Amino acid sequence: MKQVTLLAKVDQDKCIGCKICTKVCPVLSISVVNRKAVVNEDDCRACGNCEQRCPSHAIEMVPREKPLKVYVDVTKFDQGKISEICEKAHFNPEQVLCYCTGVRADEVAAAILDGAKTPEAVSLMTGIRTGCTIECVQPVLRMLEAAGCELKPNEGGWQWYGTTATAWTVPKEVKEKYSTRGFYFEEDRELLDDIAKLNVEEKGGKNRDA
Ligand code: SF4
Ligand code: SF4
Repeated sequence: MKQVTLLAKVDQDKCIGCKICTKVCPVLSISVVNRKAVVNEDDCRACGNCEQRCPSHAIEMVPREKPLKVYVDVTKFDQGKISEICEKAHFNPEQVLCYCTGVRADEVAAAILDGAKTPEAVSLMTGIRTGCTIECVQPVLRMLEAAGCELKPNEGGWQWYGTTATAWTVPKEVKEKYSTRGFYFEEDRELLDDIAKLNVEEKGGKNRDA
């Protein structure tokens, strides 16, 4: 969940239509029309990426008239299915995936069950990845992959570039090569598996409020 209090505003006189803002927006809420950037105000999640990257300083973050609460109500979705997606992605449903907004794995799973098929859609629905916009993209990709979504970066965008190796996918030879150099791949994997299982076993895949 994110409380969105700001909004990106474009000074059309300063905008040179370079489209950089459209490439860095994590929710794809900017388009360039007649060489001028236009923000979809309903969709802006106030990450500030466009403001920071605009070479003409044409964007300013301004207070919203009315703050927007962005979230997916986890209790409305099948808790068994939520647990299943989280487990496949090796996350505990209660695990925080985004430290900027506090969005947890169960809310991301609920967004996916509600129809989100891309990281951009998950961000739009939950607010995840609209703080630093970098750290939590991999967990979001893992969740989408676990739910069977085909991952394809936004064409021409710089939002993300693909999945990276995890404790479960690092090849055996790499693990062996670095095992004496301060890396603990197997121990990390076991610990992360324990964390992921904890909730599923405790709650038995049932409603977390039950
Ligand atoms: S980055 Fe700035 S100058 Fe470029 S299109 Fe966006 S608002 Fe206009
Ligand atoms: S979500 Fe971020 S990048 Fe997109 S318009 Fe809003 S502030 Fe700019």
